[in-house]
Amino acid sequence: MNKIITKIFTAVLLVLPVLLLMSCGENNGIKKSGKIVAVSSITIINDIVKNIGKDKVEAISICEVGIDPHTYKSKPSDPRTISSANIVFINGFTLEHWIEEMVHNAGGSRPVITVTKGLTPMTDEKGFGDPDPHAWFDVKNVKTYADNITEGLVSIDKANEAFYRKNLEEYKAKLDELDKWILTTVEQVPKEKRILITSHDAFRYFGRAYGFDVKGLQGISTEAKVQTEDVKNLIDLVKQRQLKSVFIETSVNPKLLEEISRETGAKVGGVLFSDSVGNDGTEEGTYIGAVRHNVNAVVNALK
Ligand SMILES: [Zn+2]
Repeated sequence: MNKIITKIFTAVLLVLPVLLLMSCGENNGIKKSGKIVAVSSITIINDIVKNIGKDKVEAISICEVGIDPHTYKSKPSDPRTISSANIVFINGFTLEHWIEEMVHNAGGSRPVITVTKGLTPMTDEKGFGDPDPHAWFDVKNVKTYADNITEGLVSIDKANEAFYRKNLEEYKAKLDELDKWILTTVEQVPKEKRILITSHDAFRYFGRAYGFDVKGLQGISTEAKVQTEDVKNLIDLVKQRQLKSVFIETSVNPKLLEEISRETGAKVGGVLFSDSVGNDGTEEGTYIGAVRHNVNAVVNALK
């Protein structure tokens, strides 16, 4: 009898560490598939996560393609998505007012990484000096995004550190190439014609980095109500500077910009990706592809 009890006791002792390890594994969140579930607030961050995490990460974006993050209303599946996450990536600079509550409500614990950490925001001149969230339109800033994403992934998956760091270096090389390409491509537009009229002020970092004046009908957030005065001012500006093109955005209602186009005779020079990349599987479905599309559209319309 004693022998049987000893055997059972020994068996439990042997199994216990394994059980503990398994539960630790689950707390660290590495799923049975072996993939880290990384949830990002917007598709732009999600694409950078895919480039660093590749096949080790299942990358999911809360805001889907073409969705405006400033005014985002959560959908029924969001709490489940966040609960499944091992790590959450957000932009910060007040882009996602809604995410804190969402993460809190999901319960559990997981790192929430702000990918703009280490960057200094531009501030909104029209509003109350709020940070401008659209830092991703200076390609150099996205290297910081990629660094922060890599540190986040390494913090929960040390075993694959070398893999993530190698992907980071490759991705940063592509970003450097993109940055150089933009600087030479915009040279085709004469300095006095470098003015970008858009639905909302998403392109101020782009303007600062690549030498464009930027005027958005709405400020840095689409939450602001457009005043008749703002529309009138923009119409005056387009007429005064004899601008040939204005631009609409994939994640913002184009109505007012089309009205300005009709009033002034300035063409709609193209559709720009501002707060979302394009459809999955297309070239514009990546951050780099979306930026290349924007630059080509702007240069072709203004040169
Ligand atoms: Zn925006």
